[in-house]
Amino acid sequence: MAVPEAVRGAPDWLPPGARAFDLVERTFLEHARLAGYERVRVPVLEHTELFARGVGASTDVVQKEMYTFVDQGGRSLTLRPEGTAGVVRAALQAGVPRSGGLPVKYAYAGEFFRHERPQAGRQRQFTQVGVEALGSDDPVLDAEVVLVGWEALRAAGVDDLVLRLNNLGDREDRAEYHAVLNAYLDRFDDLPPDVAGRRHLNPLRAFDSKAPGMRAIMADAPLLGDHIGPEAARHHAAVVELLRDQGLPLTHDPRLVRGLDYYTRTTFEYQVGALGAQNAVGGGGRYDGLAEELGWPERFPGVGWALGVDRTVLALRAAGAAAPTDARVAVYVVVADRGLVADAFAVATQLRRAGVATDLAFDGRSVRAQFKAADRSGASHAVVVGPDEAARGAVTVRDLRSGAQREIARDDAATALAAGS
Ligand code: AMP
Repeated sequence: MAVPEAVRGAPDWLPPGARAFDLVERTFLEHARLAGYERVRVPVLEHTELFARGVGASTDVVQKEMYTFVDQGGRSLTLRPEGTAGVVRAALQAGVPRSGGLPVKYAYAGEFFRHERPQAGRQRQFTQVGVEALGSDDPVLDAEVVLVGWEALRAAGVDDLVLRLNNLGDREDRAEYHAVLNAYLDRFDDLPPDVAGRRHLNPLRAFDSKAPGMRAIMADAPLLGDHIGPEAARHHAAVVELLRDQGLPLTHDPRLVRGLDYYTRTTFEYQVGALGAQNAVGGGGRYDGLAEELGWPERFPGVGWALGVDRTVLALRAAGAAAPTDARVAVYVVVADRGLVADAFAVATQLRRAGVATDLAFDGRSVRAQFKAADRSGASHAVVVGPDEAARGAVTVRDLRSGAQREIARDDAATALAAGS
């Protein structure tokens, strides 16, 4: 019987690649933390209705990509395809808007699921780190969010980074623009099905269409930027100025609409030159209407981003960035006599309790094989547990780089090695 294979589009990350993955994820979260975004954990499973209402009926995500099923209790549930709707739901459900101290700033990391056609950089299960800042209209917050994502990507090692920014205006601005754009689209009677089918729900999706010929059609389309109200325009100008002040090179992209329906005003995407078709490593924007869309009785604005961990690791690889080479453990315990296995196990435990990453050999290997394993582990030191040393209550510590060794009292080993000697 063959071993069942992984689900198509659901990647395995094993060492050493998993180390790069972990480092990228931690770097993103650390940059969020530096700006005061606190980690939250929200469910992978949500009611399907949350995404239908919160992501938008016109989106690819909701129309074709959700992993939706009916559970044993007859409820329609969906594996989360994105993070914002769930985080906002959790905040509203906890009554955050009444607890004061706005904006609330949350960060998350976890797995997301979309039934897309798998290809390089596009998976059915992937990991995102995201931030959401809720309850403020301040353009400084938009600038902060954009900047934190930029710095997080740069700190992760992405050099060839481009920031595309657009202003989607307010929902009221969009109603007028939708009519103008639909009137333009009316002039073409052979629109591809993905555009024809959705343009009355949200004609902006036409800018995202990959159907042949659509690019040329949209090149002459009226632009949302010409239909933005004065308040949203001022807001955007303030965001751009703050980002320019911080030296962020940004590209205005009047056709950037992104895949989710709920964005208002600021919308942005981080792209990497070295990646091919899937060159967006992250993106986000303001979503001032989302809370109301979810049934909240009053306006509760928000702004956030999501960065793709998998795709960032691919971008780093494509750019030839060196993978992290930190060792798996710092110390390897070598047992010179089978009768001393319990002693060696005790030494390893002592070291681990002192915070020293330690491994030891299993299955009764020869001393030679154990030293080979010690080298492979990347450990800087071996601790040898042998009969003579054991009789003296000691161990031998060998520096695996220089070969120098010395005997020390067993009880001092943890302290000595924790100090890095
Ligand atoms: P989105 O939630 O669509 O705004 O995506 C934000 C980021 O998540 C993207 O820029 C990607 O880095 C990552 N991402 C989105 N969808 C996928 C996918 N199917 N496979 C891998 N990464 C993805």
